[in-house]
Amino acid sequence: MSHCCELGAKLDEGQVLYQTDNCFVAPALGPIGVPYLLVMTKDCGSPLGGRNGIGSMVNGLMDEFVAVHELTRRVMESFYGTPVIGFEHGPHCGDLHGGGCLDHAHLHLVATDDIVDEIETYLLEHKSPGDTLGVYMPETPRVTYHCLRDILLEPETSSLYAESSDGQQHVYRVTFSIPSQFCRQLIAKQRGCPDDYDWALSEGRDKMQQTYDELVGRF
Ligand SMILES: [Zn+2]
Ligand SMILES: [Zn+2]
Repeated sequence: MSHCCELGAKLDEGQVLYQTDNCFVAPALGPIGVPYLLVMTKDCGSPLGGRNGIGSMVNGLMDEFVAVHELTRRVMESFYGTPVIGFEHGPHCGDLHGGGCLDHAHLHLVATDDIVDEIETYLLEHKSPGDTLGVYMPETPRVTYHCLRDILLEPETSSLYAESSDGQQHVYRVTFSIPSQFCRQLIAKQRGCPDDYDWALSEGRDKMQQTYDELVGRF
């Protein structure tokens, strides 16, 4: 079967932990040594959207995605008993990107310590005088996703989304580029292996399989 892109192809890689009509959950390539899942839409070419990050979904798909997001966080927290954080590297907007990897709508959920303070320190240090940095703390996932959608409509603006271990959501609206795989760089540094952040170079397939085996049947 042909797929929209390499994230859609994960449907056929034998590690799907949970799925709904339009969304699914599987271990992420390059887990940096920790339990690490992606919540994804099934097809970024779908008329329901999701071609340009999680802010680009129509309302119906967004509601389905939010439900899978919340369920996945609960399953990880109850099984691992450790903090779980989430993030989305913002989509590419022309020359600008919010630390992006792929634009197919996907959310990273990782059982590791918070990185929000590190994100904010970096953004404040790297913002040039002419740049804008907006910080929003929406109260619910639905508001978060609408906030991300609003940012997508703005020219020359991208976003970064991060959720701390207490569930607080943060949306950063940026008019400057953020490094590639930015949140993954912060996690790799936090874990003492700063060179292992790149999923294309540090695939971690044994850890992916371990996470799959631990969580299969728990959704
Ligand atoms: Zn895709
Ligand atoms: Zn990503």
